[in-house]
Amino acid sequence: MFEYRQGVLHAEAVSLEAIADAHGTPTYVYSRARIEERYRALHEAFGDTPHGIRYAVKANSNLAVLHVLGQLGSGFDIVSCGELERVIAAGGDSTKVVFSGVGKRDDELRLALTHDIECFNIESPAELDRLNAIAEELKTTARVALRVNPDVDPRTHPYISTGLRDNKFGIDVPTALSTYRRAAELPRVGIVGIGCHIGSQLTELAPFAEAIDALMRLVDQLTAEGITFEHVDVGGGLAIRYRDEKVPELNEYAEVIRRALDGRKLKVLLEPGRALVGEAGVLVTRVIYTKDNLGKHFVVVDAAMNDLLRPALYDAWHDVLPVRRRPGNAVSCDVVGPVCESADFLAKGRKLNVRAGDLIAIANAGAYGFGMSSNYNSRNRPAELMIDADECFEVRRRETLADQLALESLPPT
Ligand SMILES: *Cc1c(COP(=O)(O)O)cnc(C)c1O
Repeated sequence: MFEYRQGVLHAEAVSLEAIADAHGTPTYVYSRARIEERYRALHEAFGDTPHGIRYAVKANSNLAVLHVLGQLGSGFDIVSCGELERVIAAGGDSTKVVFSGVGKRDDELRLALTHDIECFNIESPAELDRLNAIAEELKTTARVALRVNPDVDPRTHPYISTGLRDNKFGIDVPTALSTYRRAAELPRVGIVGIGCHIGSQLTELAPFAEAIDALMRLVDQLTAEGITFEHVDVGGGLAIRYRDEKVPELNEYAEVIRRALDGRKLKVLLEPGRALVGEAGVLVTRVIYTKDNLGKHFVVVDAAMNDLLRPALYDAWHDVLPVRRRPGNAVSCDVVGPVCESADFLAKGRKLNVRAGDLIAIANAGAYGFGMSSNYNSRNRPAELMIDADECFEVRRRETLADQLALESLPPT
């Protein structure tokens, strides 16, 4: 979906050079076809196994992205009421929404109950009681699943590992047992499932299997006590290839989950984020200067850590592609932004042959890109475009300084 045509990188049929000329830089560019292809491939991998995809909104919450996925039949995994409002604004189906997160506020629980969401993924005994009380106030009932922390090592970056006992997420196995028994007694909650989410960018399948095994032991024990389950939510976390990672095939992933269910009649809910949208986006940026410090080469571009935080936050690798290939020798460079932090880099030690004014594309930036952006250094956040074959839609205009200043005011004296 991002390929060179006559030496120029294109998004589907649209030249990134033309896009940069028309919309400026830095700009996020998404391929609709790539999102659709990934959604369909995951859906097909599960075949006859009853399943539902609940896209993790936080990976990329642009309304157009949510709309495209909603049109394909996707539900959504949200972590705030802001994300619920986005799903609704994008025309998504709130009855296919699951709500995760360790710190859901009362107003968020209330809003989600009002929209009759599919399931609350409960992350503590206290949250369960709070939800029951609010459902009582509203004279309704809440469908719940407990998010279990199975204490499994996902073998990924520590900042994106969530299923270890040291992580704040989920309810440990012994507490989950007692919390399910308690939930069964509460008048305003109905148990519908069980779930986990053990981390992100998982390149191995064994941790998924281990986690589901732990969940299935709980399911078996509780079923024997008369508590019934309709679904198991296996979370998100499937990796994409940023560099040279060996990434599991979707079919293998589906097979590992089917095997772990071992014939139990449970609908599988999936919460993929990165795996659906990560490869569907690039960040297009223009070189402002090149410079050398004692023989070290820097390419200073107009995108920075405030636009794409992953390299600074996780030391993440993104491929750097010249939008127009230039003949001649490439040299090893660090690609850095204008922000006043040494952590402000997009890539280090890359062989590039670029000059001031050239465009480059930061690859695989569709997930955790724009969503993690900020106004640090009073920089306007980038525009977002969605490409559909030969058409280009501006799905978020570039911020202006007026946008930034609109929320601020001077004190009276
Ligand atoms: C972030 C998150 C996801 C999505 O993770 P990916 O690695 O992007 O697939 C799914 N579920 C929950 C609860 C999350 O917090």
